[in-house]
Amino acid sequence: MVDNKHNIEVDWLKGRRPFQFFGPCSAESVDQLRITAKGISEHFQDVIFRAGIWKPRTRPNTFEGVGKDGLKWLIDIKEEFGFQVATEVASAAHVDACLNAGIDVLWIGARTTVNPFSVQAIADALKGVDIPVFVKNPINPDVSLWSGAVERIEKAGVSKIGAIHRGFHLSDNRPYRNAPAWELAVQFRTEHIDIPLICDVSHISGVPELIPHVAQRAFDLDMDGLMVETHYKPKEALSDAKQQLTPLQLHELINNLVFKSADSKNAEFKNQLDFLREKIDRIDDQVVELMATRMNISEEIGSYKKENQVTVLQIQRWQEILQRSLKSGEALNLSPKFITSLYNAIHDESIRKQTIILERDGK
Ligand code: PEP
Ligand code: MN
Repeated sequence: MVDNKHNIEVDWLKGRRPFQFFGPCSAESVDQLRITAKGISEHFQDVIFRAGIWKPRTRPNTFEGVGKDGLKWLIDIKEEFGFQVATEVASAAHVDACLNAGIDVLWIGARTTVNPFSVQAIADALKGVDIPVFVKNPINPDVSLWSGAVERIEKAGVSKIGAIHRGFHLSDNRPYRNAPAWELAVQFRTEHIDIPLICDVSHISGVPELIPHVAQRAFDLDMDGLMVETHYKPKEALSDAKQQLTPLQLHELINNLVFKSADSKNAEFKNQLDFLREKIDRIDDQVVELMATRMNISEEIGSYKKENQVTVLQIQRWQEILQRSLKSGEALNLSPKFITSLYNAIHDESIRKQTIILERDGK
């Protein structure tokens, strides 16, 4: 079944997966859009060609988009390449302009999702119109705010709703531009099992080098598609120049992704499993980081021992450490056998590091 107005499968969840939102961060000129779209069309069909027309920028006096003129350019792309075209809306006026122009798909940006007033104004403008709308997660790590925005759009009667995971602004986002916090995306998915969730790998990564890893992770989590900012000359882009791929790089990215089949057909089970595995991965990252920090301190102690000509192994101190940990382990229901072997391994590594320091410079 096809919705003639927008030429989109009504059963769009099954019909359109995986979603391919490819195109530049911003529409800059007729030529930039055409050359980019042509490059993409050489490798892909069934693309939702994205380009921002109104750009929400952190600082004024940066490129804020070409405005309404760009809508016509997008319609030309749709006609020439047979792509569907999508842009970001941040107000009721944007929605009206897009509907009048014949834009196929709308998305709500991260800076808009944070504000329920703005989302409601967009929802009101969408009443009675069944255009697909994708809602990006808010900048801050708040899944309820994201869900609330989706619910406002749903209540307006829009039936084709999707969500876009574009990472979150945490106190430390390294090495990403926006931390993926995958467990939040999984949590959102668990709450909204019926709507497609796609991953905006560009705004998470911030640089091309991280994109393959992020995209693979998104597919491993069974997401329904990708948004990838693509520009025929990324370095010359007027916005987000550091993160865009060329159409050829985009082709390589998608070619190298491994599509794994889901272990279980039961999506709810899989989501719950992913959710728990995500938690475990987070904890393991912390365990390794804490071990590294512990070993750095051990090395400092090693240098100190060297200066003061103290032996590396001090049995009494080691006994104290082990006893302390056995005691906390007991309180937390961890077996003495486990604690002892864990601490033996830690201690061995610590001694190894201190010995290297002591033997350095032949002293
Ligand atoms: C964009 O898609 O170009 C954009 C501005 O993204 P976000 O709303 O995720 O920051
Ligand atoms: Mn961008």
